[in-house]
Formats: sequence, structure tokens, C-alpha cells
Amino acid sequence: MYKDPSTPTLELIKDVIKRYGLECVEWEPFVFKQTIEADTKTSISKINLLKICAGCSIINLDTYFNDWKTFQFLTQVLNNDIPSAVITPNFTVGELMVGVETAVRLRKSLKKLNPAPEFSEEIAKYIAAQALEDGIWYLPKPLDFANKYSSMKKVICKECGYEEFFDNQKVCSNCTEANTTSSLKDFKPKKHRVKKGFGKKIKIVEKNPTSKVSKKLTKLLINPKNEEIKVEPEDMCAVKLYSAISYMYEQIGVKYDH
Ligand SMILES: [Zn+2]
Repeated sequence: MYKDPSTPTLELIKDVIKRYGLECVEWEPFVFKQTIEADTKTSISKINLLKICAGCSIINLDTYFNDWKTFQFLTQVLNNDIPSAVITPNFTVGELMVGVETAVRLRKSLKKLNPAPEFSEEIAKYIAAQALEDGIWYLPKPLDFANKYSSMKKVICKECGYEEFFDNQKVCSNCTEANTTSSLKDFKPKKHRVKKGFGKKIKIVEKNPTSKVSKKLTKLLINPKNEEIKVEPEDMCAVKLYSAISYMYEQIGVKYDH
């Protein structure tokens, strides 16, 4: 498995932790190389060594979840690509899914030790931009956190005209004075304004409507063979997502459970 470049990151990490314990996530690459090669009496391919280091970094640090440059670099590795210093990668939605799903599953495997943080806004926007370039505006799991950016789901205030990306908040930030704060953490509607009924007159719009795509995708995932595909943007988008999801399961080495 260490020689074969197609071995998924999840399998490699599971095996090194089983062999050497969780402490090994802090090892340097050369320690992994020497130890694994001595123990298994085979050579380890370069990409597998990189995948092990990427996996350890994701387990250890939160940068994959909040820094887009780290995200970009490690997502290439998780997709069996050796990152280049000169070429900026363009990811398909399938490749982005492989990266995100691998990272989330790695953290889940640690149970409560180091749960996965939420992906940052910066990464969500990066993913949405890559998806839109690929002609995909609806993002299901595991990329659903970026969906508001790809679908351009916004809340617009009918009273003051303020608009922002929809974050499950059903009042206008401006009318409830949420944005009169110096710290991002306190960016919440002021209770006394909400009580007085300010900011309620809002509408939620999706500039790129997602419901038709999401329905078609669900049908495809249940029964891909019997689904008629029409030549229209929604169906094309759903088909691309269906291939992306199939690709993800194949790459991470997990069977899709219908
Ligand atoms: Zn308003």
C-alpha cells in the first residue's frame, strides 16, 4: 500500500497511527520514510509520503480549514498531485470534495480529541469561485458551507436596501445595528432593536437558484440509470455534481451508501 500511489490518504493515516501511535503526526517526513521503509521492507512513493504529511498536518493544525493557500496546497496532495511552485491549480468540484471530505473524516477519526473546525469564509469563497468556473452553482455536502456564495444566496432588507450573504439570520444587520461593533464576534443583531421590531422586512433571494439542481441530483444519486437528462443548465449541473460525488467516493476509498 505504501508503494501504490493510488492508496487513499485515509488508509495511509489509519495505518501509520495503528503502527506508531498518534504521536507520529508530529514526525518529520524523513522519519516516516525511514521507519516505514524499514518496517515494511518496501519503498514508499513520493506522493504517499506527501499524503501522510498532509494528513498529519490536517490532524495537527487548523490551517487547512482557515488559510486558503494551505488549503490549495494540501488539496493538490490529497488528490495525488505533487504541488508545483509555478502552476496555480484549478480544481474540479470532485477534487475539492476529496480534499474537504478527507480532512473532515481525518478529524472525525480522532473522536473528540481535535474536532474539525468550520471552514473559514475565505475558503468557502475560494471553493465557490472554483465551482462557478466549472459551471456548478449548487454545492451539496461536503461543500455545502460554500453554497451561499456559489448560489449567491442573499438577504436583502426591504426597508434600508442593505444586502449580505444569507447566514440563517432572518433580520437586517443594518436595521438591527449588528454592524455597529468593533469585534467580528459580536456581529449580531442588537436585542433591543429586534424586540422593537426593526429589520424584519427582508427577502431572501438566490441569484443562482438551486432547488431544481438539488432535486435532480437527489434523483440521480438514488437511481442514476433511470434518470432522463435534459439539455438544460440545471440538469447539466446535477450531472456534473453526480460525477464529482462518484469521483470523491472512489478517491477516498469509501463506498457510496445509497
Ligand atoms: Zn435594513
